[in-house]
Formats: sequence, C-alpha cells, structure tokens
Amino acid sequence: MPDSKVITTEQLRQWDKRHVWHPFTQMQEWERDEQIIIVMGEGCWLIDTDGNRYLDGVASMWTNVHGHCRKELNDALKEQVDRLEHSTLLGLASEQSIILAARLAEITPVGLDRFFYSDNGSTAMEVAVKMAYQYQVHSGRPERSRFITFRHAYHGDTLGAVSVGGIDIYHSTFKPLMFDTLQVPAPYCYRCELGCSRSSCNMECINSLEELMVNNTGFVAGLVIEPLVQGAGGMIVQPAGFLKRVRELCDRFDILMITDEVATGFGRTGTMFACQQEGVVPDIMAISKGIAAGYLPLAATVTGNKVYSAFLGSYSELKTFFHGHTFTGNPLACAVALKSLQLFKQDNLLAKLQPKIAWLERRLDGFKSLAHVGDVRQSGLAAGIELVENKETGEPYPWEQKIGIRVCLEARKRGVFSRPLGNTIVIFPPLVISNNELDILMDVLYESIRVVTE
Ligand SMILES: *Cc1c(COP(=O)(O)O)cnc(C)c1O
Repeated sequence: MPDSKVITTEQLRQWDKRHVWHPFTQMQEWERDEQIIIVMGEGCWLIDTDGNRYLDGVASMWTNVHGHCRKELNDALKEQVDRLEHSTLLGLASEQSIILAARLAEITPVGLDRFFYSDNGSTAMEVAVKMAYQYQVHSGRPERSRFITFRHAYHGDTLGAVSVGGIDIYHSTFKPLMFDTLQVPAPYCYRCELGCSRSSCNMECINSLEELMVNNTGFVAGLVIEPLVQGAGGMIVQPAGFLKRVRELCDRFDILMITDEVATGFGRTGTMFACQQEGVVPDIMAISKGIAAGYLPLAATVTGNKVYSAFLGSYSELKTFFHGHTFTGNPLACAVALKSLQLFKQDNLLAKLQPKIAWLERRLDGFKSLAHVGDVRQSGLAAGIELVENKETGEPYPWEQKIGIRVCLEARKRGVFSRPLGNTIVIFPPLVISNNELDILMDVLYESIRVVTE
C-alpha cells in the first residue's frame, strides 16, 4: 500500500467508484460522472486534489460553525488526543463529557440540564422517542404510546427517526417497517394545505393540531417538531408564534414536547437554540450537527428533572433507561465541542451574526424577481429558494428534472458547493462566513439559477 500522498487523483476516483457507497446517492449516476475529491479545508473553503477551491455553501452538511481547520479547534483536539482518545460512559465517567454537560447546561433553555450523549442526530432522536415513551410507562400511562408528527418533517434515517419523519420520497419505501404516527399539516405557508395565506391567516393549521389532540387524548406520548424551520423538508420556515402555540397545546394535553434542534442548534437561526426565540422550553431536546463545530460526530438528548426523575428507582424496579451507544461521550468530540463554545464567546459570534442575517435577507430579496423563483424562506443564516416551473400557479418542476441538482452543478463550476433539497436551493454556510464570501455565494447561486431556468 503506497503512502496516501502519492496516490493519484485518478486512482482515488477509481477506488471511490469501486468501493464507496455514497449516502442519498444514485450510484449508477455517481459512477458515470467525474467526482470532486476534497483533501483540505480552510475557513469557509474546501480544496480538492487539483487545488480547486469551493466555497462550502452548506457547511459540510450543516455542521460547520467556525470554519474548516480553525487553529484553536485543531489545537484542542491535538491536546486531548495526547491525554485520552476514548473511554466508555458505561460504568465509568470521563472528564470532557462532564465539563461539556456542565457548560451546555449554562446555555440550554432553563431546566434542560441533563444530557444523554450519543453520536448523531438520528440517534439523538431515537433516544428522545424512547425516553418519552418510557417516561409515560413510568408515569403509569403505558397506553400513551403515540407520537404527533408534522408533514415534511425530517428527524434522521434510523427506523425510529424515519417513523416520526414526514418526507414521502425518503420515507415511504420503509412504511412496512415503521410505527404509525399521528401526522398533522406543516405550516408550509407557500403551499398551505388549508388554502390560507400567511399575511392574512390566523394559523388555522394549529386548529388541526388541537383537534387531533382532542381526539387522541390519553394516547399520545409526545409531539416531535423541528423548531422555527423544517430543514430537510425544504427550509420551511414557521410563522412567528407557531412554536409557542404548539407548546401551549402540549401543556394543555399533558403531551411531552420534543424539539429536534439538530439543524437549528448552535446559532443557526440567530440565537443559540431556535426555541429560545419564542421563549419555549421543550421537555426533551435533541442536539447534534453543530455541537462539535463540524469536526466529529457527537449528539445529546437533553431533558430536565421532570423526565429524568421518572427513571429513578431501585435496580429491581427496572426503571433504568435501557439504551446506549459505544462511543457515547467521546472525549475527542467533547473537547472540540467545549472549545467551540468558548469560541462562540470569544468571537462574539451570535452578536456578529445579526448583521450577516440582515445582509442575507437583503441578498435574498434580489432573487424574488427571478422568473422561476416561487418562494424565498429564511431563518437566521439558513435559507431556501424554491424554484417553480410556473411562478403564477406555483406549479413545481417535476422532480425528475433535477432542477435543484442542475443549479448546484452550475454553481460548482463557479467555485461554490451547494446541495439542494428537491427543487429548493439551500443556503447554510458556516456561521463564520464573511460578508464578502456571502456575496460570492449569493452571486454564484443567482447566476446559476438564471442559467439553468431561463
Ligand atoms: C440532519 C438531521 C438529523 C439527522 O442527523 P444525522 O446526524 O444525519 O443522523 C435529524 N434531525 C434534523 C432536524 C436534521 O437536520
């Protein structure tokens, strides 16, 4: 086996096509096309084997916060690896996971101070769902076994997470393997199922949720929601006040509110956590993607005393939460996550985000006049531009046309990497992105949309 530095790009391409199965990818097409192989990262840029640079427009699958290869994070990782690379949380405690939990407890919504670690967003949600149900069991209500979910929701790709999801194209194949949920319409205002329009509606969609709760009183364990914005569903932004209304209904019907902050957590929507913008405290919250700044897999399911204390009892009562993952609380990931929290403060990142969010809003405005832009949606430094075949009627492009993918391929030729959600172009850069880089991103996307759709 030769040293990896002398392996040619051609050889890497061949091995990739021969041996790697890429996620969410039609491999027949992948094997046919020429692929870019990334070898380095620098700030908001990714660099390939030929030295070409690409602006990382989706923060490496929504994870990157402070840029690639940020010195302080690299140093924290190097320092930790010389102390301890991994030790289990099953039967032992470990330093970094303890400090991280204590630090996180200072910034999570009040009362959410108990952290169950895992290593990705899907597992954080699996844990949330199992925790919610077992909580009901311990509270003497085992018949409360159902979950309320939203159309277009995405909570990950393991079976429990798929069950509470609502994106047909990803999830319908697995229907026979899934558990049933009570699904309600999403507040997807551009394509409102109830025919309302955001400027004049009274959030009638909340009424269907209320009705569902009335009809299923006593059988619901929890409600699962992505707060403020449904990410993978197409950056579907909720109307102001929606989340708060959901919280009120959960309170009224004594249903656990589970918020999935896997995408929105760690500053993405402009506050540390999205639910803080509506003053909402969930009962259980899942965090992952940005937690370790995009460096390493890490996740946590966060809850408070109400849920936690229901699991306490003598050994023989079998109230233990029977769940755990091998790499739970990995010290390397926790050390990077701790340094990342420090950088949030040191760089004054959340405050600096505000003008960038305003700038993004102004830049997005410029897209609305394009002939095939149907809707533009933004929450903080996350945005979606929905392309439509017919702007008057909102008629979508047939998905087989791969309009989003074609726009992103154009962008790539111009030095920007992006990944669409169906017909929606995604803007989700590292939070550290400069105004200048944001302009490059928006200029390239604008030109790419124009070239492909006009
Ligand atoms: C990405 C995502 C997940 C799944 O996280 P993985 O780490 O990919 O398993 C869950 N929920 C939301 C909202 C996400 O965006």
